[in-house]
This record gives sequence, structure tokens and C-alpha cells, in this order.
Amino acid sequence: MDIKEPQRKRNRKENGKPHNFSVNYFVFLKGTKKQICQKLFRALFSVSQRRINTISKKIKIGSTLTEKRGGDRKSHKFANKFNEVKKFISNLKGKESHYGRAKSRRIYLSAEYSIAKLWTIYNQNVSADQKVNYKHFSRVFNNHFNIGFGSPATDVCNFCVRTATQICNARNIIDKSELQTKLKVHKVRASQFLKIMKEELPSSVSFCFDLQQVQVLPKVPIQDAFYAQQLSIYFFCITATNCKNPVFYSWMEHQAGRGATEISSAVLDFLKRTNFAPNVDTLRLFSDGCGGQNKNSFIIHMLMLWLHSFAPETIKKVEVIFPVRGHSYLPADRIFGRVEKILKRHAVIKTPEKYCELYKQVGEIRQLGTNWSLVNIKKASVSLKKVIGISLSKRIIIKRGTVSKVVVKSESLYRTDDPAKKFQTLLKPKKRLDQIVLSKVRLGHEIKQKKLDSLKKLLVTLSGDKWYDTDPELRWMAEIFENLAVSHNEDQEYEDGEEACECAETDENNFI
Ligand SMILES: [Zn+2]
Repeated sequence: MDIKEPQRKRNRKENGKPHNFSVNYFVFLKGTKKQICQKLFRALFSVSQRRINTISKKIKIGSTLTEKRGGDRKSHKFANKFNEVKKFISNLKGKESHYGRAKSRRIYLSAEYSIAKLWTIYNQNVSADQKVNYKHFSRVFNNHFNIGFGSPATDVCNFCVRTATQICNARNIIDKSELQTKLKVHKVRASQFLKIMKEELPSSVSFCFDLQQVQVLPKVPIQDAFYAQQLSIYFFCITATNCKNPVFYSWMEHQAGRGATEISSAVLDFLKRTNFAPNVDTLRLFSDGCGGQNKNSFIIHMLMLWLHSFAPETIKKVEVIFPVRGHSYLPADRIFGRVEKILKRHAVIKTPEKYCELYKQVGEIRQLGTNWSLVNIKKASVSLKKVIGISLSKRIIIKRGTVSKVVVKSESLYRTDDPAKKFQTLLKPKKRLDQIVLSKVRLGHEIKQKKLDSLKKLLVTLSGDKWYDTDPELRWMAEIFENLAVSHNEDQEYEDGEEACECAETDENNFI
């Protein structure tokens, strides 16, 4: 075959497409070069007109076609886009699961978002050459990140998942049945917590408490809010185990942290305000086993003091019961579900009052500083010893004693009492419970400068440089900035040696 050098003759249309040169077609027939028509040439060699045109153009300008088949042609083309997508996802602010540090680093984004929504936002924010299709975006999202949407309450238990995998991979029947027994025991144990919680004993009253996922202010549906650090507002719920009459204790990030002091103070306020029926002699409390917030000696100290100084005489015993890790679905989570449903309908929330108004549709609201205050429970450690081995215990029993007025015992099983464990006073030598005074803690909690800067930037994006004038709903934030500046200058020391839970802070961290 031979293609004759194109000769410029006249513009001609072939297949409806114009080109400005003509091509002659030849074949070698028994050694002789013979001209044929284009149609026959295309039929003989099964080539398209487009291909002929491309080759002709190349020959005309004196270059040749390069071989493009094979080799790694895609990765370099997509490397930039890939990095850009990765950078975008890394910058999203997510919430870590309650047990996040100990287990997987799964991050949770608000249930309002989805991969498709994030993909749209990504494409709106990058230049044309960095836009990607949905398939590419979702592949990076799923393969390089561990992100979920919605509440981490649906976390699966690590032990259950790990053991189930081990059962599948077991090499022999003995190993397999051993693992199956182990998993069965674990699941039975986990279900004990729920069974105990559901038990309705005539002489006892049960409550559960839990801190909800952090809410933010201002809550706005603009893309900048994705990257900005907003102010956190906390809602701690205490409810009867049948989900009736929930009470929300709320406070802001600039007021207090979210450790044992806040939880103890809220629970103490709740217990002081509760009217116990005269036939009730036992109070049962259920909460997840988060060490920094619920499962620590400070909470036990607070309950000891409540029983000693504030509880009605008829209450003889307090039991605090913790779930098996990873199986901590509590009635409070159902209450939070109700709240989330309402919050979803409100894309914009700029004031704490607005949040409170919405929460009021579900339960009673008590705002820190107005309705309740923080007590310095950590100071009780001067007189009281820590509960030894608290992290392994499933039940902690606090009861009125005869000699020492309140005694404590911790049990590692739900139903069986360990005969080796005895009730003990936690009092240190020469200390008495009635000497312990719960003083008020001054409100104020440091916010990192980086967060404040990021927040200010968001406010400017929202309502301009003079956001405090333009948007009356944001004015309350200006006061926070002013007060923080003053307190920084005073270099104040907090009365409460704040010790945040290890699962706190995580919502401020970026994840990779
Ligand atoms: Zn489990």
C-alpha cells in the first residue's frame, strides 16, 4: 500500500467533513503500483476516513504518528487531580467516634452530606482542569479515607468484627469452635447490660446519661463552613431509661470543657432536682464507659457526696452500670435521634438560643451559667481516694454504710458479685465526708487562637468585615471575642484543673 503525498488542489468535502487537500490511493498488484478509488482502499484495509485524514495531515506537515498504545499513560494525568481530591477530603472537619482512639480512626461527617454532595462541592471549587467525575471522587473517598456519615452511635464493636473474621479464617475445627464460644460469651455479656437496663424493679429508679455529638455555631450550609472551625455547643442528656422526660444540659465551648467536672455537675444538678418516690431505695445510672467523662473516680465521688448530703434518707444505694465496649446503645441515643431530625430541618442556626428553642421540642433545657453551675468535684480528691481498677469494672455500687457513712464496691461482672470484693470507704485518713465542700467553678475555657482566626474568617465570609453590625444574630459572638481577649490578657488560671476526656478535642483535628 502506498499513500501518495497529498497535493493541494481544492477544498473538498468527504463524509461531510471538509479538508483542504486531496489524497490519492494506490495498491501494489503483482509488483505494480495501481491507483484505486478511496472507497475500495478503505474497504480493502478496513480503515476509517478519519484515520486516513489523520495520517494524511501528519504526512503533510512532515511528522509521523507516535505509538500511543500500552504503557502507563493515565497515572501521571490523574496524579494532580488525585492529590487535589485527597487534599479536599483531608480538610473536611469530621467527628471521631467516641472510642475512636482505641479503635479504628473512623470519622463521621454530618448526616446532611453524602459523597455526591461533597463531589459537587469539590468540582465547584476547583479549576476546570482539576474537575473529576463522580467515580474518581468516590474511589478516592472510599479507598483512602475512613469516613462515614451520620452518628457514630452505630459503631460496630471491634471485638465482634475481629472475632468473626478469625472464625472465617480458622484453620481447624477446634480453633473455630473456641472462637465461636468466645464470641458467644462476649455477646451474651453485652446483652446483659441491655437486659439489666430494661428491668423495672419496683424499688429502684433508672436514668441514663450521654453527651451528644458536638453541635456548632454558626451552623451554616455554605462551603466555607466545611473548612472553618466553628464554636462548639454541647448538649448532655439525662433521661429515664424509658426515654421519658429527657433533660438537656447545655453549655458553650468558651464556658467549659467536656470532662468529668461538667458531667458530674450536670448529674448532680439533675439528682438534686429529682423527686424520688418514697418507696424507691435504689438509684441506677447507665452511661457509656468513656473514661474522661463518665467512668472515672470523680463521678463516683460526686455520687458519694450526693448520697451523703443531698439524697433523701429513703435512698440507700446507687448503682452505676457500664456497657461492654462497642455495645453501648443507650436510650439517650434515641433522644438524640429525635433532636437530629429537628435539626436537619434547620440549615441555618446562628445563636445558642435558637438551638435551645429546637431542643425544647424534645425535652427540658438547662443552660450553664443560667440554670446550673459547675462544681469543683476534683477538689474532693483531697479527701477521697480513687476507685481502684475502675476501667475494668462493669458495675460500681455506692451505699450507705454504718461506720463510714458511704461505702463503695466495684464489680467486673454484671450479675455475679465477686466474694473477694468488699465495700470500702474511699476516705483518706483523718478525712470526713461532711468536710468536703463543693465550691463553684468560675466559667471560662480557652479556645485556641487558630480556631478563633478560622471562625472570624468564616464570619467575615458570612456577613462581611463588620459582621457584628450587619448581622444582629451574630452580635453575641463579638462579646466572646472581646471577653476572650480580656481573659487572655489577665492570664487567668482556671480554678478547675481541666482534664478533658481523651475522646474530646477530636472534632477539632483534621484527619488524614
Ligand atoms: Zn462486641
